[in-house]
Amino acid sequence: MFGTGDLSPHDPLVGADLSVLVGGELRRYVDLDAAATTSASAGVARAVQEFLPWYSSVHRGAGVKSQVSSARYDQARETIVRFVGADPATHVGLFPKNTTEGLNQIAFRLGLTRDDVVVSTAVEHHANLLPWRRHAQVRVVDVDRSGTYSVDAVVAALDERPAPRVLAVSGASNVTGWMPDLAGLAAAARARGVLVVVDGAQLVPHRPVDMAALGIDVLVWSGHKMFAPFGAGGMVVDRRLLVGGEPFLVGGGAVKAVSDTEVVWADTPDRDDAGTPNVLGAVALAAAADELMAAGPRNRRHEDLLVHALDAELATVPGLHRLGPTTGDRLPVVSFVLDGMPHEEVAQRLAREHGIGVRNGCFCAHPYLSRLFGLSTAEVQQFHDDARVGRADRLPGAVRVSCSSA
Ligand code: PLP
Repeated sequence: MFGTGDLSPHDPLVGADLSVLVGGELRRYVDLDAAATTSASAGVARAVQEFLPWYSSVHRGAGVKSQVSSARYDQARETIVRFVGADPATHVGLFPKNTTEGLNQIAFRLGLTRDDVVVSTAVEHHANLLPWRRHAQVRVVDVDRSGTYSVDAVVAALDERPAPRVLAVSGASNVTGWMPDLAGLAAAARARGVLVVVDGAQLVPHRPVDMAALGIDVLVWSGHKMFAPFGAGGMVVDRRLLVGGEPFLVGGGAVKAVSDTEVVWADTPDRDDAGTPNVLGAVALAAAADELMAAGPRNRRHEDLLVHALDAELATVPGLHRLGPTTGDRLPVVSFVLDGMPHEEVAQRLAREHGIGVRNGCFCAHPYLSRLFGLSTAEVQQFHDDARVGRADRLPGAVRVSCSSA
């Protein structure tokens, strides 16, 4: 047991073996919050453990440790490019700390201006909305009441004038588990010379992605959602997009030469990797990628079973209303509301009375939630006004159950 000193007598006691005390009985903790973060897998933990004595600064030292670290870092870069089916001759792997940082980095690196248009959708996590809004105009493709949109709707937005430069979409929703037709979206964008940026935070841990076959220019994801620890995400980018321009982070490692007045930037990946990198995180991410590649279709079969089990169990709960599509191919991610019980209470009771961990709230996707709840513009405005005066707790929310294959 650990951490009990910080917990009130009513909190479950947490054991190092992931058992929790529920109603006086020790039970195995049930983590149904994989869409937020997954625990490190045994293979990833082993890879980190083995590498621990060796890590050192990369590309800066002649010592053996530094050489080993540099080699492992470069290898991890190659692994993540292979993991997402990109061609190493045309695409480069980077290690932003997570999806949020990666999307901020690419939105900056594309050198967008206020005259540029980015087509995105109402499904997006804030991480795939706010970085684009900061630099450009965002043209949002809306969803229908089931929380989905069609390729045709995106095509219509791509064909509006002014012509967009970027299509930025999620490969899968963190609220409903719904996956758009990525192949259709990418083909439509490419046919119009529009760059395709995919937020793979939810998709990549669950499904193999073939960037080359799909025609994706940039794919970003987070290690902590695919059995690696916090602090290392993956971003695979068409190298042509990173030629020239100022790096997102400036500092040591990103330069060829610095004088009192001038700087000559290095070529990517160094240009886009200023500062001492998270080598341990990169090694962990690559180990997780290797494991997922080795598991192949086994994971998919298991997750399909999980989706069916979730569908079947939730259908038996009286007064439970699911958000988003309930049929078709989905990830094991389901959000719902329960008649007569606020989402906070459902989540707290699942934790205290059953030892089950879920997430509740708006899942960093306010525009999507407001549509799934069918809120009017006036109601959304009211929530904003409330939030401005410190009453963000009044935002509508749901309970999310999510699982993974490990
Ligand atoms: N995009 C999606 C679809 C997500 O689910 C998340 C996290 O939940 C993010 C982006 C942001 O990921 P991170 O917090 O690791 O940057």
